[in-house]
Amino acid sequence: MFNSLSDRLASTFKNLRGKGRLSEADVDATVREIRRALLDADVAVPVVREFTASIKERATGSEVSEALNPAQQVVKIVNEELQGILGGETRRINMAKTGPTIIMLAGLQGSGKTTFAGKLGKWLAAQGHKPILVASDLQRPNAVTQLQVVGERAGVPVFAPHPGTTSEFDDPTGDPVQVARDGVATARAKLHDVVIVDTAGRLGVDQELMKQARDIRDAIVPNEVLFVIDAMIGQDAVNTALAFNEGVDFTGVVLSKLDGDARGGAALSVASVTGKPMMFASTGENVADIEQFHPDRMASRILD
Ligand code: GDP
Repeated sequence: MFNSLSDRLASTFKNLRGKGRLSEADVDATVREIRRALLDADVAVPVVREFTASIKERATGSEVSEALNPAQQVVKIVNEELQGILGGETRRINMAKTGPTIIMLAGLQGSGKTTFAGKLGKWLAAQGHKPILVASDLQRPNAVTQLQVVGERAGVPVFAPHPGTTSEFDDPTGDPVQVARDGVATARAKLHDVVIVDTAGRLGVDQELMKQARDIRDAIVPNEVLFVIDAMIGQDAVNTALAFNEGVDFTGVVLSKLDGDARGGAALSVASVTGKPMMFASTGENVADIEQFHPDRMASRILD
């Protein structure tokens, strides 16, 4: 999905090839091209500004290496800055030292939370963990059933609140906070070492949703709150991410639908504006379509 951005940057760098030294005009022209490529890829304006300012400063500054020609040097700087925007080092799940690791998912409706819950469960199970999914989305009709279907595909058990389902527990109150608590209690009792809690989303950010997510978070004190964002939503990504960051203070970002043909730049902006790392990429509708996010590899992929 970063194809167009990749192509634009590649052709910008091509213009620098064969140059023995970069004049200030060369640097200016290059930075201008990079700025245009990023804006066309939907990267948020303040992020572009900061990014290009820092590239300009480094490219004109004292950072000269004997081993690299000017074009290679600019590519190296852009690569490092991109990696920084994407969160720097690979950020792994913060596992609990004792008791189950609790991972809560938050995000807009349709962002891919439920699908990701199954993917993450399967991914963790493949690493020898014993996860359980908890259906705390009681807002959307069928959300509980959907999580059960996802869990079945992933081969991961689901704690669900409704009677008459494959649930091991029935919660007559239909209170998502209580469901989350009961889910964690069940995980402890059944010796699951990871609990993945799916929560309700809305079509847009609203305060009631945020309060509910916060109440769930405060009730179960998760080790990770992962904000799932659809890579296709364009410039809205930044405002949505800021609202969730303020609302639930998430700890990491999951970029979903990375298999789509979105321009992708808005997704690049999310880690930068929130200061929270990208942790996973969700790359398809299949339960196996999950990748741990490696900022260095993603930056290289963009600059490939
Ligand atoms: P939720 O409302 O946040 O729980 O979102 P869902 O998990 O129900 O996903 C919404 C829609 O997006 C469903 O039709 C999913 O099949 C689809 N979806 C989820 N993740 C991905 C992905 O990584 N790639 C693609 N192409 N589709 C996805």
